[in-house]
Amino acid sequence: MKIHEYQAKEIFNKSGMPVPKGRVIASSDEAPKVCQIINGPPWVVKAQVHAGGRGKGGGVKVVHDPSEVIAAAESLLGKSLVTPQTGPEGVKVRQVLIEEGVDIAREFYLGMVIDRAAAKPAMIFSQAGGMSIEEVASQTPELIWTEYVDPAVGWMPYQGRNLVYKLDPLPSPGAIKQLMAVMAAVYKVFMTLDCSLVEINPLAVTVSDGVLALDAKMNIDDNALFRQKEVLKLDDSSETDPLELMAATYNLNYIRLDGNIGAMVNGAGLAMATMDLIKGAGAEPANFLDVGGGATEEMITNGFEIILKDRRVKAILVNIFGGILRCDVLARGVVAAAEKSGMRIPLIIRLEGTNVTEGRKVLEDSGVKFLVAKDLSEAAGLVASQVSGEN
Ligand code: ADP
Ligand code: MG
Repeated sequence: MKIHEYQAKEIFNKSGMPVPKGRVIASSDEAPKVCQIINGPPWVVKAQVHAGGRGKGGGVKVVHDPSEVIAAAESLLGKSLVTPQTGPEGVKVRQVLIEEGVDIAREFYLGMVIDRAAAKPAMIFSQAGGMSIEEVASQTPELIWTEYVDPAVGWMPYQGRNLVYKLDPLPSPGAIKQLMAVMAAVYKVFMTLDCSLVEINPLAVTVSDGVLALDAKMNIDDNALFRQKEVLKLDDSSETDPLELMAATYNLNYIRLDGNIGAMVNGAGLAMATMDLIKGAGAEPANFLDVGGGATEEMITNGFEIILKDRRVKAILVNIFGGILRCDVLARGVVAAAEKSGMRIPLIIRLEGTNVTEGRKVLEDSGVKFLVAKDLSEAAGLVASQVSGEN
């Protein structure tokens, strides 16, 4: 689960990490009042969306007059923001954060993630802050420094020193102390809130030698949400794709993609392979949908309904390997959904495994129009030919 910058900064603030003072607003009418509470000029007006790279997309505006704060808020609120991390259609801005503008002397990167290979939390620090860390990692990896944490021992002050003393030039003793305190606090927040990511980019040293987290990104491990009730309250479902929300309530693994071929598959591995085959046949999948090994007829119907709700879908490929999920159960689910929705787009089915003959019979007797493929690549070829000329 992702949370907004302003929410992460509130958590930082409560954990003793220094952040600029700010207020979040949903209407530009509230801007003049905020300018009276928050020190400025300058003020920084920041779009609150779950995507990063806002600076590059015009979602972070530095302004010097209350009237400009209002204008900046107006120009962002209700509009779609396109950044390098959103799709071309962007995401709608519903809130903006108005913050005190800070005189930045240096910008660092600080982040914490779980490193799967090391099976430990990793603190990542870089002198090259403020810019895209992915670019730094690919072009100048020597500028990124990592310390792994043994959770049984916790974050140790010497690890903070290991990172901070790599900086060139070395910051003042006061700033060093603050940077190390931020690192210790990041680890504490990361562990207490079951985060999968905490990222401060930039972590700034100001001209007056203070240290401030100017940006804040925090992702919480979905598997831990059952015990993170307070964090769960911060969920902004308006940021989630409505079809993905629907899938989550049905307990289906669904991710929306850019193409026009709906795919329904059981098992994540088979779903990935199916997407590759669709692409290999020259078409683009509209979604990733793994109905899971033990899917019931109802789940199949729900999955089908979600695919059909997506207007872009021009053909559907069902690729099921019947194991725990038997082919006849799948077939009844498909038939129920097709009848309910009055499906008009081509349906290609590839079934194999337990009760496959019964499954085929259910489909044949149903009156639902569909094509059967004998194997995976024929299925992908068939579905691609249904939409060729549409891409
Ligand atoms: P994003 O990472 O989405 O582009 P940031 O919050 O990192 O958004 O903002 C982009 C840049 O704007 C930062 O790298 C920083 O240079 C500047 N910035 C952000 N907040 C402030 C602030 N409160 N005062 C001064 N500059 C800021
Ligand atoms: Mg940033």
